[in-house]
Amino acid sequence: MVVSSTTITKKSESTSFVEINLDTLDANLKRIKEVTGPGVKTMAVVKANAYGHDSVLIARALSGKITALGVATVEEAVTIRKAGVIMPLLVFAPVRKSALSDYKAFNIVAVAGSFEELQLMSPAVSFHLEFDTGMGRLGFEPADWPEIKKVLEKKKLRPSGIMTHFATADEPSTAKTADQLSRFNSLLDEMGSWSQSKVIHASNSGGMMHYPEARFSMVRFGISLYGYAPGKQFPDALKDLKPVLSWKSTVVACKRLRKGETISYDATYTADKDGWLVVIPVGYADGLRRGLSNRIYMKTGGEMLKQVGNITMDYTMLWSEKPVPTGQQVTILGPDAMTADQWAEMLGTITYEIICGIHPKIDRHTVTGRA
Ligand SMILES: *Cc1c(COP(=O)(O)O)cnc(C)c1O
Repeated sequence: MVVSSTTITKKSESTSFVEINLDTLDANLKRIKEVTGPGVKTMAVVKANAYGHDSVLIARALSGKITALGVATVEEAVTIRKAGVIMPLLVFAPVRKSALSDYKAFNIVAVAGSFEELQLMSPAVSFHLEFDTGMGRLGFEPADWPEIKKVLEKKKLRPSGIMTHFATADEPSTAKTADQLSRFNSLLDEMGSWSQSKVIHASNSGGMMHYPEARFSMVRFGISLYGYAPGKQFPDALKDLKPVLSWKSTVVACKRLRKGETISYDATYTADKDGWLVVIPVGYADGLRRGLSNRIYMKTGGEMLKQVGNITMDYTMLWSEKPVPTGQQVTILGPDAMTADQWAEMLGTITYEIICGIHPKIDRHTVTGRA
């Protein structure tokens, strides 16, 4: 079979949209900066399309307000550069040989966490050294330092920063974080002059909010900027952070629903009284997780309507006492309806997975004003 043409979904055809509230983003950033204080540099993490918020849109909105941006891959960094953003950009992923020309051409800062990567470095590429102090993922062992130093001297390399990453900083006072922190501090001592006048960073949102002693010269925050606690809850100083994102759609159909009728596949919901069935053109293909079926509420016309029946690939149904006009706006997710952390709790997952799961095909645009 020959596939003759490719159809690209136009954004204007998307049946739902995501609003990014720039005033909320600004307010969250301002609060974070008040907490960390003026002596600490700020890196906003915009990997995974800024946790589903649109990395270019967020990067542009933050331009001039923070020190740097952090991304997972060099491709993400190039996308942001090509959109005209000139802030420093750090790529967390291991450096690949094939990507070296992009680091140079787009002035992107690399992270080296193995001897193989270190061999790829040259004075033409700015890089940070990453150490694995207990995360159990990427980075050199602290014990590698004497050997790393030899390579740096031989190749005449100067890292511009030193970093590590925490495994359990989402909750306060964990023994694991204390241990990672002490390993990192010992390493910095051992590095002596090699650790001086470098950007030193360890903390994600959790580290930043729960371990002030782990802020070093820069903090790397993602989830908190977008308005969610990384763990169970925000500490008091950050209680007023709000979700930046709202996911919205419109009613495509509304019809009578009589007592005893069932809704959707597997007939998991039976109406216990007469009412109205409201249909929204969003389903699990858009990132509205099927596991939420019969458990959530969506807001329309100022009221929270219960979601009923199984969520399908492209449609989701709500129950209403009165008819709802087609075309009326519905808030699926957002600070004035249910929030991503509530969904995460229901699904036994973390908020990160919910917001990253809003399909990239869905149009994202900015709004201003009070959420
Ligand atoms: C994702 C990530 C962060 C940000 O984590 P949050 O919990 O979202 O603040 C910081 N540093 C690294 C290396 C990351 O991968």
